[in-house]
Amino acid sequence: MVTTVFTNGRILCPDSSGCFVSTLVVEDDNVAHVGWENDEAVVQTLATALKVDLKNRMVLPGFIDSHVHILNFGMSLQKLDLLPCKSLADIQNAIISYAATHPSDPRILCRGWVQSVTDGQALATDLDDLDSRPIYIEALDLHSTWCNNAALRELDAHSKPNPAGGKVHRCHSGLPSGLLEEAAQFYVVWPFLDQVTSMKSKLTAIDAAIGAYRRAGYTGLVDMAMGESKRAALNVYRAQRGEIPMHMAAHRLVPYSECEANICTQIDRAITIQQSFNRKTSPEFCINGIKLICDGTVDGCTAGLHQPYGGCSNIVDPIWPADALTTAIRSATDAGLQLGQLGIVASVQPVHLDPATFGAWPEMLVIHRCKRAFAYQEFVDGGAHMTFGTDALTAEHHALPNVYVATTRRSSIDPSSQETVNLSLLCRSQSLYQQLLWRRHMRLFILTGSLRPGYTANFVVLDMVWTVEPLLEARVCQTWYKGKKVFDEETDGF
Ligand SMILES: [Zn+2]
Repeated sequence: MVTTVFTNGRILCPDSSGCFVSTLVVEDDNVAHVGWENDEAVVQTLATALKVDLKNRMVLPGFIDSHVHILNFGMSLQKLDLLPCKSLADIQNAIISYAATHPSDPRILCRGWVQSVTDGQALATDLDDLDSRPIYIEALDLHSTWCNNAALRELDAHSKPNPAGGKVHRCHSGLPSGLLEEAAQFYVVWPFLDQVTSMKSKLTAIDAAIGAYRRAGYTGLVDMAMGESKRAALNVYRAQRGEIPMHMAAHRLVPYSECEANICTQIDRAITIQQSFNRKTSPEFCINGIKLICDGTVDGCTAGLHQPYGGCSNIVDPIWPADALTTAIRSATDAGLQLGQLGIVASVQPVHLDPATFGAWPEMLVIHRCKRAFAYQEFVDGGAHMTFGTDALTAEHHALPNVYVATTRRSSIDPSSQETVNLSLLCRSQSLYQQLLWRRHMRLFILTGSLRPGYTANFVVLDMVWTVEPLLEARVCQTWYKGKKVFDEETDGF
C-alpha cells in the first residue's frame, strides 16, 4: 500500500460551506483521512508515508463536468473557430485565410457560428466563392450546420427529405439552400462526417480533449450524447491507452423517429450496454441514462414555444411528441437506466447565460419572456438536484468561469462588463459557490466528488482566493486522480 500525506494545504472539508483543513492522507486510490497535521491518524503514518507539500494552495474535489461532448470537443480543437466573427464578411475572411494555410485538408471544418451574426441566414452561395472544397460551419449550439454547395453535394442533400424533427432548408427551386438543422444535423451531417473521419483522427481528438480536461482540473465528466460510433472510438482509445484519467459517464443518444420500433431498438441497445457498463460494474466508464433531444435551441429558433418567436408567425413545436416521449422514458426507467430513484438531476450550463452571448435573446423571445430564463433557484425549489456543466464545445470547458457566471450572473468572457442576466433568479444561497464545488455531482458517480475518507482521491490543487470576484484569476496547478498526479503545471509546461 502506498500512503501519501499532503500537508500545508487549504483543503476544503467535506460537507462544509467553506471550512478548510491542512492535511490529507491518501492510501493508494482513496482518501484515508482529512484533518490536521497533528491528528493521530496523520502522526501514525507520517514516518513511513510519502510527503507532498501543498505550499498553502487550495485543494478542492476534482471538477466534474456534467455536460460535455467529448469527441466533438476534441474534434473542435482542430476546426476553425468563428466565434470571434461579428459579421458575414468576418466569417468569409476567416475562412479564406484558414483555407490558404490548410491546403491539404480535404474539407474546411468550422465551428462557433452564432446565428445572430448573420441574421439567421445561412446560404451556400455566401460560401461558394471562398474555396472549392466542401465547407461545413457548425453552429455554436451544435444543432445545425451551414454548408457550401460542395458540402451539400457530398452530403447528397438534394435527395434527402426532411427527417422527423429536422429540416434541410431549401430555396424556391426546391434545391438545398445551405442550412441543415436539428434532426438533419444528427441524421445527415454528423453520420457523413463521422464516416469520413479516420479512427486515427478520432483517437487524436479524444486525446486532445482529455488532455485539456485534465489540465483544467477535471477528474470526471458526463458525455451528454453518446452514439455508437463515439462509443466505439472511446473503446479503442481505452484499449490502446489503458485507463482514462477520469471518471466518464455517458447518456446514450436516442434520436427521435416517427417509427416507434426504431426508438425501442435504440433504447434496448442502451439497456444492453448499460448491463455491462453501469455505475457499479464499471464506475470509470458507464452509461448513466439515455438522452432525448426533446427540443431545439433558442439561438436557432428551433426550441418549442407556445407563442411565435419575435418577428415570426409560426409556432415551433418540440421535437418529441408527448406520447412518444412518455413511452421512451417509461421503457428506460423500467430498465433502471435513469436516475429516477434518486430524483431529478437538473444539469445546467451557467456559461450559457453569459451576458456577452445573451444579446440576441430579448429580440427572439420578446423581452418579457426572457425574464425567467435560467431560473436556477426554481429548479432547486422544485426539488431538483442541480449539477453544472459547460456543454463543451458550445462553451469554454473551464470550471471556475462557469461557477463565476452562475454566482454573479456577470460575464466571464468580458469581466469588465457590469451587465447581468436575471440577477433576481440567482440561487438564494450565498454559499452556492462553495456548494457547487463538491455537492453537485455526487449523484452521477459513486464515491467521488467529495474529499472524505473512503472516497476516491480525486482532487485539484489551485492557486486561488476563496471569494467570487478573483475566481477568474484562479489557476489549476495540479490534478490528482485516484491518488496519482495526472497533471502538474510545473512539469507539463503550462
Ligand atoms: Zn450538449
